Amino acid sequence: MKLDRALGLLREVPDFPLPGVLFRDLTPVLADPDALRAVVDALQDKIHPDTQVVAAIEARGFLLGAALGYGWRYGVVPLRKPGKLPAVTHRVSYALEYGTATLELPADSISAGQKVVVVDDVLATGGTAAAACELVERAGGVVTGVSVVLEIQGLGGRDLLAGRDVNALLTL
Ligand code: IMP
Repeated sequence: MKLDRALGLLREVPDFPLPGVLFRDLTPVLADPDALRAVVDALQDKIHPDTQVVAAIEARGFLLGAALGYGWRYGVVPLRKPGKLPAVTHRVSYALEYGTATLELPADSISAGQKVVVVDDVLATGGTAAAACELVERAGGVVTGVSVVLEIQGLGGRDLLAGRDVNALLTL
């Protein structure tokens, strides 16, 4: 399937999770076997060839990260919300529009010098992806890039990731 057709399956849900927010839902893309393949292949096309590990952001990043890891032989490291991991090496908190959020890196997952791509479904303000990059770097990893399916423009995500190789399959 062509990438634009795959991305055409993306669904927009008004007023989720809060009134006034337009949520971009990738579920129908992932649920279609050909669309899933087209999206994962397109993500892979932009990943730096030296990359060894995918750092996948909870939760939809896990799905994309696992597909990439299996398909192109990357290790996959889940970056998780607090309280999920039995052993944590690093923890980064970051600001959300309302409140804060935290991501944690599993112990013994990324070693010094390893080349790591950060993967998620959507880039909005960039806070989540920036925290992911910080976690990888605190462990001594080298971030080769940030890959997402969808970038929501105008929320400052690219600014927060200045200097990083940010790749989005679709920008809205
Ligand atoms: P950011 O930290 O503001 O860039 O938000 C990105 C994180 O929030 C990612 O982990 C996304 O999964 C999630 N997110 C933000 N907006 C959306 C959306 O419209 N659809 C799906 N996920 C979103």
